[in-house]
Amino acid sequence: MIAEAIILGSGTSNGVPTLGIDYPPDFLANPKNHRTRPSLLLRGPQGNVLIDCAPEMRLQLIREDIKQVDAVIITHTHADHIMGMDDLRSFYLRTKRDMPVYTLPRYQEDIRRVFNYAFQEFPPGVEVPRYDLRDAPDELELAGMQIRLRVVEHGPWPVLAVLVGRFAYVTDVKTISPEVLVELRGLDTLILDAVRYRPHPNHLHFEAAVELALELGARQTYFTHLSHDYDHDIVNAELPPGIALAYDGLHIQIDG
Ligand SMILES: [Zn+2]
Repeated sequence: MIAEAIILGSGTSNGVPTLGIDYPPDFLANPKNHRTRPSLLLRGPQGNVLIDCAPEMRLQLIREDIKQVDAVIITHTHADHIMGMDDLRSFYLRTKRDMPVYTLPRYQEDIRRVFNYAFQEFPPGVEVPRYDLRDAPDELELAGMQIRLRVVEHGPWPVLAVLVGRFAYVTDVKTISPEVLVELRGLDTLILDAVRYRPHPNHLHFEAAVELALELGARQTYFTHLSHDYDHDIVNAELPPGIALAYDGLHIQIDG
C-alpha cells in the first residue's frame, strides 16, 4: 500500500439530511444516509493531503482522528468545497507554517476574496489562517505520494481531478476530455460524481455516472457527491458489480 484515501464527506452541496426536509425514520436510521459535504483525505507515507475543505472539515477530521494536514488541493471554489478553510488556522497555530494550497489561478482569486482576512496583517495574538497559494501543476509530490492533477468540466467550471497510482477522485464533473478519459480507464479505484437521479446541467446524474463507470471499467467505482435521492443500502444492492455508493468514513487502499 502506498497510501490510503478516506472519504471525509460523500454528500452533495446541501448535505444529507438536507435542512427543512422530513425523512422516513428508516432512511435516517442508516448512518450511511448521513452525508457531509464532499471532501477526501489522502494519507501518504509522509503525511496527509486534504482534497477540498467542506463546511464540516473540522468535524470530519476529528471523526477520523486526523491531527495534521500537510497540504491542501482545492478542486474548485464552490462553497461546499471551501467553506471549511478557516479551520486550517488550527494547523497554522501549531506549525507556524503557511498551509500550501494548490489550485487553479482563477480559484486563488476566489480564496483571496472569500478569506481576505487570511492575507492581512494583524497584531500578535490575533489568530487567522495563513495560506500559501500555489498553481496546481500537472504532477507533484506531496506527503510521499506522486499526485497527478487533471482538469475536468463541471458545466462552465474547470475542476481538478486527483490521481494517485491507480486511484482517481473525480468529484463535480459533467464532461471529461478524451485525453483525461484515457488516464481514467482501467483503474483499481475510481471515485465519481453521481449527484442525483434527475439529469443535472453541471454534474453527472445517476444514469450517466453508471454508463461512464462501466465504460471506464475500474475494478471498483464509488459514487460520491450524493443527494438524498440515494437510500444507501437499497441503491447499493441494485448497482452493477464493481459499482457502489461511497459513504462518510469509507477507507480505500491505494496500491502503487
Ligand atoms: Zn461544484
